[in-house]
Formats: sequence, C-alpha cells, structure tokens
Amino acid sequence: MVKNHKLARAISDANWGELVRQLEYKADWYGRELIKIDRYFPSSKRCSSCGHTVEKLPLNIREWDCPECGSHHDRDINASINILAAGLAVSVCGATVRPSGSKSRKAGAMLAQLLCQEETENP
Ligand SMILES: [Zn+2]
Repeated sequence: MVKNHKLARAISDANWGELVRQLEYKADWYGRELIKIDRYFPSSKRCSSCGHTVEKLPLNIREWDCPECGSHHDRDINASINILAAGLAVSVCGATVRPSGSKSRKAGAMLAQLLCQEETENP
C-alpha cells in the first residue's frame, strides 16, 4: 500500500510496523497465533459471499454489488470478512499447503483458502 502515493503518507504516519509489532506481542502474550496474509490477497475485490473477484475496485468506491451473486458489499466489511476467512484457512490448512522453502505462513494464504474450499466441497 505504501506504493500508492495517496495512502503512503497516511500509512507511514500510522507507523504500520509498530502496529504489527504490537499485534505480534499481544498475540504471543495471550498464546494466540498471528497470521499475516499475502499483501496481494484481493481482500477488497473478492466477494465474501461467492468468491468472485472483480477486476478493478478504485479506492473511491466504498460499496459495490457483486456481478455474479448480486450481494451488496461495504468495501471494508467485505475485506475484513475475507481476511478473517483467509487467516482461518491458513490456521487450519496452512501447515500442509505452505510453499516449500517458505518460512512465512502468509505466503500460502490464498492457496490455503482455495484448498480448504476444495476439501469442504469435495471431501
Ligand atoms: Zn458474489
């Protein structure tokens, strides 16, 4: 997001690194697992109801309707639902779907979500 010049200043001001450090500290403190999803995971553009991903979703579009299922989405709430689903998918399936050689759990987030969907649809 820092490459987006409109957001770069706001994100830098918010000290993103400190937020992540705090989340890691708190997760460790409470015995929880912090899962970072891939930075390119289409959390905003992906319909949380049917999984369809739209090609473009400019930042000024705050609400949108899915062209596949017709669901109406608030951009941020839809993204939060998708991020939660991706994190849960990594938590459940991540250990077996992480790309070989990857030390990060976030790398497999999208793949894990897809595999978990296939496992639940075709057990
Ligand atoms: Zn949809």
